[in-house]
Amino acid sequence: MNRRQWIAYSGRLTFGAMGLSNVLKNLKPSLLHPVVFIGHGSPMNTIEDNVFSRGMKAMGRQLAKPQLILVVSAHWETSGVQITAMPNPRTIYDFGGFPDALYHVQYLAPGAPEFANQSCKAWQLYNVHPNYTWGLDHGAWSVLRNMFPEADIPVVQLSLNTNWNASTHFEFSRELKALRSKGVLILGSGNIVHNFSYMNFDALHPGDFNFPYAHDWAVEANETLKYWIKNSQVSDLCNYNIGNTALKRAIPTPEHYLPLLYTMGVLEPHESVQFFNDQIIAGAFSMTSFISKEF
Ligand code: ZN
Repeated sequence: MNRRQWIAYSGRLTFGAMGLSNVLKNLKPSLLHPVVFIGHGSPMNTIEDNVFSRGMKAMGRQLAKPQLILVVSAHWETSGVQITAMPNPRTIYDFGGFPDALYHVQYLAPGAPEFANQSCKAWQLYNVHPNYTWGLDHGAWSVLRNMFPEADIPVVQLSLNTNWNASTHFEFSRELKALRSKGVLILGSGNIVHNFSYMNFDALHPGDFNFPYAHDWAVEANETLKYWIKNSQVSDLCNYNIGNTALKRAIPTPEHYLPLLYTMGVLEPHESVQFFNDQIIAGAFSMTSFISKEF
């Protein structure tokens, strides 16, 4: 880093810290709130009683009640970063072909406009802008409805900037770290192995998307990623698409993978993770989820 880069970097730190104090002023200090990554899978997990929805429910019961939830979902990609800033985010049905019952589910948690607007100021160098039209997509509400069914905790969604590579997503995620000691749950929602081109379940168990079945490469990719997560191998996690054939097949597009980096970026050095719902389904989807643990 040369002098000019250092001045720019240190200026960003100072600016970020000042802006962040405004973001945090209305939140009470808390113990370091756990971080959670959820493999969300099918939206039907919202209304089905199955091993995965039970796993999410158990995780919600285990957590101290957050003051606010910040979700990074695979299903909101934008050019530049946006954060939902409306007082009452709508429930978005961003899928097709599911039973009517799923389209009647609503998750009417309040938003947090002041938090969102202050965040935009704090993270100005990352060009974060308020959004008033999105709401909660199924990557958010299918998980939240299981974890926090009362829908009484304010929720904001942060979009995935399609102009960034994985390393920049990770770098930005570190800006969210301070939120954890203000009772904010950072929730990543995606699937670390996710490839519709290799989906295979009809021949084995017609209609049962959740039946455990894994292609060999999906197992290899899932285990490799779990090892890197467990050992905080950030460089490997950011360069997932270099070399390894199984990983290239597991992550053909980045959107279901990148929420993982937002949960890894806010971990402290003394933390590791505990996996749950660690199961591959339909050949090519991993439901692998985790919560941070202090050791
Ligand atoms: Zn998804």
